[in-house]
Amino acid sequence: MAGEAGNRLPWHMTVSETARMRNGLEMRVRCESCDAGLKPADTAFICSYECTFCSACARSLDETCPNCGGELVPRPRRSDATVDCEVEPA
Ligand SMILES: [Zn+2]
Ligand SMILES: [Zn+2]
Repeated sequence: MAGEAGNRLPWHMTVSETARMRNGLEMRVRCESCDAGLKPADTAFICSYECTFCSACARSLDETCPNCGGELVPRPRRSDATVDCEVEPA
């Protein structure tokens, strides 16, 4: 049954951005607030739309995204090395 289209895009996302999400986080390299460089291995804070902030700005923003009002949470760091996401068997 085709119901109403379930997934409406957030207002600030393009279709290509949404498609990219399926391949993992975008890992933006700059703080949106102070333009500090953020390497994938650095500590950064993101909201669910991947608005990205350095830890100092996230703190001064009270860990709330100024763009969408969402929570800012620590971004998982990504090493430069090979992706290794194995889950240990229970
Ligand atoms: Zn910043
Ligand atoms: Zn946001």
